[in-house]
Amino acid sequence: MAYPRPFRAPMITKIIQNLFGKTGQGSKARFGKRRVIAASTHGIDPDLVDERAWNVVRTLQERGFQAYIVGGAVRDLLVGLKPKDFDVATDATPEEVKACFRRAFIIGRRFRIVHVVHGRGRDHEVIEVSTFRAHLDSNDAEQVSGNERTSKKALSNMTHAVDASGRVLRDNVWGPQDEDATRRDFTVNAMYYDPSVGEVIDYHHGFEDAAKRVIRMIGEPAARYREDPVRIIRAVRFAAKLSSLGFKLEPRTAKPLKAMMDLLADVPQSRLFDEMLKLLQTGHALASIEQLKQLGLAKGIYPLLDVVVERADTPFVKVALQDTDRRVGEGKPVAPSFLLACVLWADVREGWQARTGQMAVFPALQEAIEEVFNARIGDVSGRGKLAGDMREIWTMQPRFEKRTGSAPFGLVEQARFRAGFDFMCLRAEVGEVEVELADWWEDFSLADDDSRVALLQAVKPSPRAVRADGDVRKRPRRRRKPVGDKPPASDPTNP
Ligand code: ATP
Ligand code: MG
Repeated sequence: MAYPRPFRAPMITKIIQNLFGKTGQGSKARFGKRRVIAASTHGIDPDLVDERAWNVVRTLQERGFQAYIVGGAVRDLLVGLKPKDFDVATDATPEEVKACFRRAFIIGRRFRIVHVVHGRGRDHEVIEVSTFRAHLDSNDAEQVSGNERTSKKALSNMTHAVDASGRVLRDNVWGPQDEDATRRDFTVNAMYYDPSVGEVIDYHHGFEDAAKRVIRMIGEPAARYREDPVRIIRAVRFAAKLSSLGFKLEPRTAKPLKAMMDLLADVPQSRLFDEMLKLLQTGHALASIEQLKQLGLAKGIYPLLDVVVERADTPFVKVALQDTDRRVGEGKPVAPSFLLACVLWADVREGWQARTGQMAVFPALQEAIEEVFNARIGDVSGRGKLAGDMREIWTMQPRFEKRTGSAPFGLVEQARFRAGFDFMCLRAEVGEVEVELADWWEDFSLADDDSRVALLQAVKPSPRAVRADGDVRKRPRRRRKPVGDKPPASDPTNP
């Protein structure tokens, strides 16, 4: 059964548009010429398409809509990478998409899309479905005062809106596929793949750019960064992600990046925070930092990211970043709280150490943590879970030193034990605590109750065990050679 299509300009509109050249030959050329690339040319293996994404495409097509795998997944399949996620683009409106699936939710204001949800719990998978957008001509869009951060209310009924600088504040006017392709960011991100017939549709020579290993902005780069300054960070991300395959930013695309960085000041902090995490937690953290430095963007994108870049070469942060990249590469989960706890650990340690001797171990640590939260992450403190998890990782650290009585049994049962333990292992890797301590906890966590008792009994007196006579005995440390900087002489975790 054929369902009505969403984008059907009335005849009279078409005649007027043709008269004024809106969708006439001239502007068609501007949107790029549609090219169909056959399976025998592009060589994408349809079996590599995620089954759930394929299912979404098939369902929409069966209802009479156009539907394609789009964006990064096509790019990645084309260059032999495993796509991180599969996005779908269609000519069905969000409401029409929602009506096709049992569990589908319309989300977003600035850019309305549909989340089609498959599965439940940990295994659930979201396929993002976006409706083809019309080309956005800043002159036609409603212009509002204010910016992305301040004008939510004023924008509530608008579908196409920009601010005075050309920044897109609302992008919810549906259009044909060629216009949709033109408002995507890079040519390699603007291809559509129809797995049912095996064809790739390409309007901007993304196929050739993929072969040439070029990341090229569609249209005039500076104008595109003004429309959405987050594209500055996306340019860095793709340059990093694809660098191992030899991809480079095209010089015209790279040139305005530094000069336009100031535009990021008006982007909501939450969006910047999310983009920062994409730089750091998608398996290319070290490459992203390298790109930021090379492109002259090491400072100024987001305060917390500045700290990461600044500390990327310190031993502890370096192993944390390497470890994050390795985990993502192995398909293991990574938590932002863990990486941020690593990045800000130097501050916590410093504050903690400064208080040692003046107050008890735990209150000293708590105070130091508060200080760090206030100074460094006030802007994300609303993210309760993130902050809570960071706190837990840090406050667990002195508890690893206590290997007597029932304390270790309680610690190992904590929900966040694994994160705290992994953190301690990284500390051991840089010589901040003894490797023996990390090994012991690994054994303890894996042992049964009887073996745990035996492990506890086998613990040698702790380095500065307080003897019954009150004398503090110091055991010489069998510390592994630190990777770089020496840890402070008096280690606050061993007060
Ligand atoms: P990744 O592999 O990291 O998922 P991606 O290219 O799929 O990369 P997404 O953020 O998932 O990136 O976005 C999907 C697609 O949507 C992009 O490939 C691009 O075509 C388009 N897109 C996303 N964000 C923007 C933006 N800010 N401006 C223009 N197009 C965008
Ligand atoms: Mg994607």
